[in-house]
Order: sequence, then C-alpha cells, then structure tokens
Amino acid sequence: MSTSTASLMDGTALARRTVEETAVRAAEITRRTGVTPCLATVLVGADPASVTYVKMKQNRCAKAGIRSRHVELPASTTTEELVAAITALSEDPEVHGILLQHPVGPHIDERAAFEAIAPAKDVDGVTMASFAAMGFGLPGFVSCTPGGIMRLLDEYRVELSGKRAVVVGRSAILGKPAGLLLLGRDATVTYCHSRTTELSSIVQEADILVAAVGKPRFIKGEDIKPGAVVIDAGYNPGNVGDVDFETAAERACLITPVPGGVGPMTIAVLLAQTVDGAERQLGL
Ligand code: NAP
Repeated sequence: MSTSTASLMDGTALARRTVEETAVRAAEITRRTGVTPCLATVLVGADPASVTYVKMKQNRCAKAGIRSRHVELPASTTTEELVAAITALSEDPEVHGILLQHPVGPHIDERAAFEAIAPAKDVDGVTMASFAAMGFGLPGFVSCTPGGIMRLLDEYRVELSGKRAVVVGRSAILGKPAGLLLLGRDATVTYCHSRTTELSSIVQEADILVAAVGKPRFIKGEDIKPGAVVIDAGYNPGNVGDVDFETAAERACLITPVPGGVGPMTIAVLLAQTVDGAERQLGL
C-alpha cells in the first residue's frame, strides 16, 4: 500500500482548461476578422509514432477551432526541398503556426529545416530566435513541454524565486529550456546530465526537481528532498516516468503523475501559442 503524502499536479485538468480558453480565443479571432487560426504540420516520411503525433495534434486543433494544414513529404525529401516547403508556409499569410514533426531522418539537416520557420510562426519554439528570446527573457514562443511545466508550476502557485531547482537532462527541446525558464523566474538552477558526478547529492538539494532523462524510474524517492516539488517530464514505455513515483510521492509535497502530468500540457501549449501567433499576425 502506498503511503503517498504528495498532492498530484493534474496536467490533464489544466490542459483541458487551457484548450478550452484557447478555443474561446480562436473563436473570437474568427468572429472579429473572419480568419481562423491555422497550424501547419509538416511530416517527412511515415514513421508510425510521428504519424500518430501529427494526427493527435490535428484532432486537438479541430477541437479548439484551429484549422490545420498538413504537408506530407516522402522520406526521400532533401534538406533543400524541406526548407523550400517550410519557407512557403512561413510566407503564407493563411498559416499562423508551423510545426515540423521531428525526427526528420538522418540525411536532413534538421537545424536548417527548423530555421526556415519564420520566428513569428515558431509556435513549437524550435528556432534559434525563439531560444535566444527565451534566454534574454524577451517575449516569444517557448518550447512547448517546458512551457507546459511552467504553467503547471504557476497553476499550483509554486514559489520559484530563490528556490533551488535541479533539472536532470539538457536536451534542446526540454531540459535546457526548462532550466532557462526557471532561471528567468529567479530560481537557482543546476543542470545534470550523463556526465554529472554525484547526481544523488545534487538531486537531494532540489526544492524543485525536473526529471527529463528518458530512463524509467531513474530518480528514486530516497533522493527527493522532503517537501520538494517533483516534475516528471519523462515518458517511457509502459506509461512510466523518469521518477519512481511511489517512493517519490512519500517525500514530495507536489508531484506530477505519469501519465496525466506534464504530457497533456505539451499540445495545450502548442495550441495556445498558435492562437497567440494568429493574434499577433492579425494585429489583434
Ligand atoms: P534526450 O534528448 O534523450 O535527453 C536526455 C537527457 O538525459 C540528456 O541531456 C542526457 O544527458 C540525460 N541523461 C541521460 N542519461 C543520464 C544519466 N545517467 N544521468 C543524468 N542525465 C542523463 O531526451 P528528451 O527529448 O529531453 O526527453 C526526455 C524524456 O522526456 C523522455 O522520456 C521523453 O519521452 C520525455 N518527453 C516528454 C514530452 C512530453 O511530455 N510531451 C516531450 C518531450 C520529451 P547528455 O546530454 O549528457 O546525453
């Protein structure tokens, strides 16, 4: 039997509310301008997981009153062809957000493809311009999963200023931007990665822990500081996170479940940022 003491951070409920609010904003844009916000998704090849993710995003768009435009390219697409397709979307006034589903295949220069996304339409927060704006604390689009993490922390009124935040993982789409966003809110941030020594003792100091590793139950409850806030961004086969939930929940004060924590927030932020983009591009 679990002796869990932590309260759950319910990402499913917050994502639902975020999508509902986004749908209201999308409908208002359509009412005022006659233009419906539009997200373009670009898929290269037919990797089953990528096909599923793109379909899921299109379904959610439809529920939020956002149009989706889908560009499907064969796996043999070259970097130049992909850049040309994305550039056309960047220049198309009917498209307000662009999402390139990745990975795109090893023969493609993924960075060049991302950089073909106009920063004003970078609703997935993947361009260097978006990353730099986030680093400088300027307005712009953030990477969706870290953006979702920050919304969860705010929803549960987690004090960040002066707190010790530890981010385990430093990927460009998750760990690194999550740490920068926490730093921007005056947390004292430590990054851990595969070369970190004495990981346990660093994790033990965390008032706020973000686990973004991709290894099932990698962080054990015994390393959680009593009263810590635990954000588990991991999503591993078998619906298991990067944190050993049962033991961590005995010590944390707030914890995200897997599934139902960080996961649902990612698409919610994508939709919200698409509507943000449409509002800005339409001058509202
Ligand atoms: P990734 O690109 O593979 O990055 C994993 C990070 O973990 C790397 O920075 C790596 O360090 C670090 N790491 C690996 N082994 C470690 C160890 N033994 N000790 C400490 N750090 C270690 O993965 P990702 O894309 O960031 O995703 C991480 C997890 O989040 C996955 O489970 C993924 O499924 C999940 N995820 C969820 C969502 C969502 O909820 N919507 C979105 C994206 C990702 P190095 O940099 O040194 O290699």
